[in-house]
Amino acid sequence: MLTSDQVTTNHPAQGPVKKPYSFFHNVEMWFDKAARFTKWEKGILEQIKACNAVYRMRFPVKIGDHIEVIEAYRVQHSHHKLPCKGGIRYSEEVNQDEVMALAALMTYKCAIVNVPFGGAKGGIRINPKKYSVYELEKITRRYTSELIKKNFIGPGIDVPAPDYGTGEREMSWILDTYLSLKPGELDGLGCVTGKPVSQGGVRGRKEATGRGVFYGLREVLSHKEDMKRLGLEPGVEGKTVIVQGLGNVGYHTAKFFYEAGAKIICLIEWDAAIYNPRGLNPDEVVKFREETGSIKNFPGAQTLRRNTDGLELECDILIPAALENVIDAENAPRIKARIIGEAANGPLTVEADEILLKKNVLVVPDVFLNAGGVTVSYFEWLKNLQHVRYGRIEKRFTANMNHLILEQIEKNTGKPVDDAHRRLIEHGPDEIDLVNSGLEETMIEAVQEIREIWHSHKDIPDMRTAAFVSAINKIGEAYAQLGIFP
Ligand code: NAD
Repeated sequence: MLTSDQVTTNHPAQGPVKKPYSFFHNVEMWFDKAARFTKWEKGILEQIKACNAVYRMRFPVKIGDHIEVIEAYRVQHSHHKLPCKGGIRYSEEVNQDEVMALAALMTYKCAIVNVPFGGAKGGIRINPKKYSVYELEKITRRYTSELIKKNFIGPGIDVPAPDYGTGEREMSWILDTYLSLKPGELDGLGCVTGKPVSQGGVRGRKEATGRGVFYGLREVLSHKEDMKRLGLEPGVEGKTVIVQGLGNVGYHTAKFFYEAGAKIICLIEWDAAIYNPRGLNPDEVVKFREETGSIKNFPGAQTLRRNTDGLELECDILIPAALENVIDAENAPRIKARIIGEAANGPLTVEADEILLKKNVLVVPDVFLNAGGVTVSYFEWLKNLQHVRYGRIEKRFTANMNHLILEQIEKNTGKPVDDAHRRLIEHGPDEIDLVNSGLEETMIEAVQEIREIWHSHKDIPDMRTAAFVSAINKIGEAYAQLGIFP
């Protein structure tokens, strides 16, 4: 679907060629495609779509013996619910368009999984591999103080989290900077999520996005009629899976699929892709990378000629979990997967989406599938506001009640419960149990809501459009209730 507003450039050999749409424009096009299936007037749709605030900053940091000017962003896409929420990315590719697109996706994502936040995103245009830990800390702390100066961070304003190139370490630097500059703020711990547990983080956050990808796809795979249309049996066990990006999201996704009995036949990293039709154990591959610096030449696996060749192998489920635009109009015709689970943000271009739809490939969209991270971030934020660990109050009470119930059952039936079941039933919930069950429920509920929209309207072509319809309707309701559009 190339339209006249798409930019053209002059290629020396081919003449005028269409340039791919920008990432933000892609998101806008997905939005527009879905908006036709909603009841909202143009003004409301324009407001939902627009980025409310874009903060582009430049700040100096002393690196070695010279001063480097760092370019960074924070975009708040929507204030229909507060605080805003979204990760911070460290990458050389960071630019305003990308951060705006990712912030918009956050708004829709939160609405789809019923997490009461507006969308935001941040980014620092650096290659973190080129800096020492000390330098990264300086950059992160300076970025945080810039956000504080402009009131772009705070537990009730805007709450960052990890994204590509960042993790618990960066989040704890952000927290420490915030608390130093805002001493005595009672809910200060809630200014950032994805923190280490020792600093107010919640158990299960680190693996939450990958776990959510697994729960979401498992639910999708459980629907017989949808699988029949793809020529697949329902269920995870035995499915062949390819994962691109063995970072936080990709590694955990691969691990949960492996543990559930799927066969991880190919893993793709930036410098190599490895293939083994008998299956790869993600833990062994990560250990090998730690020892050698690369997944290249992993024992028993074939290292592919080009790492991108891995995307084009035959499999049941392809999971891009690295960066955006990895499947476009050029390689989409060669994709042989039957399901694509978008664990990364924006891995498919609009053109790729359309090609894959014609090929009857089921695309499970990022805007829903990688929402596990923000869902558990929401739990972390609630924990920080409540100032109490999940399970602390009810764990012992529940265990005691369960013990009494078991005692009565044994007395009335005359049959003892075996030790393994006794341990399972008597056990009161720990924080990790509650977080994982909250995440599981959220992802299952979202699949059901999206499917209901998708299957109740015969013209909605795909799951992405249905997911956007779900988001637009919820945000539209929120604006209507705010009374902004009488
Ligand atoms: P990460 O930095 O932990 O991992 C990214 C991995 O991708 C790294 O191992 C990197 O080497 C690899 N990679 C880079 N370029 C590649 C290439 N060309 N081919 C193959 N692999 C490549 O990042 P992450 O947090 O796992 O994020 C990955 C994606 O998931 C991003 O799109 C991010 O926006 C999205 N996401 C992350 C979270 C989260 O909680 N971390 C939540 C939602 C969405």
